[in-house]
Amino acid sequence: MLKAPGSRRYGKDGTTVVGTRWMDEALCRAYPTEMFETQDRPGPVPPEERAMRRDAVAVCGRCPVSAQCLDYAMRMERGAGNNRFGIYAGLTGPQRAKIARSGYGAA
Ligand code: SF4
Repeated sequence: MLKAPGSRRYGKDGTTVVGTRWMDEALCRAYPTEMFETQDRPGPVPPEERAMRRDAVAVCGRCPVSAQCLDYAMRMERGAGNNRFGIYAGLTGPQRAKIARSGYGAA
């Protein structure tokens, strides 16, 4: 998982991802990145991780750029199948995988 959107604009090679000015308004920039980097693995989720995820989802619920964030995540994760991790736009990786399977973004 990449860092929270404030930092997610940097690609693996450190270059700036084009079209990410909206990230300047991302509420998660003011929160610890770890909140948004919860792992989505099978089995029970430890209570502290569950609480962190809940807090992250609440932040996303107030975020003015959640639509852009979801679109960004879906484009970035295109072809990722179930390999989606962390919270984007208030959604976990498995939730985004479900959206992708439903044909999100298909022309
Ligand atoms: S929707 Fe959530 S993860 Fe996306 S930019 Fe806003 S606060 Fe960050």
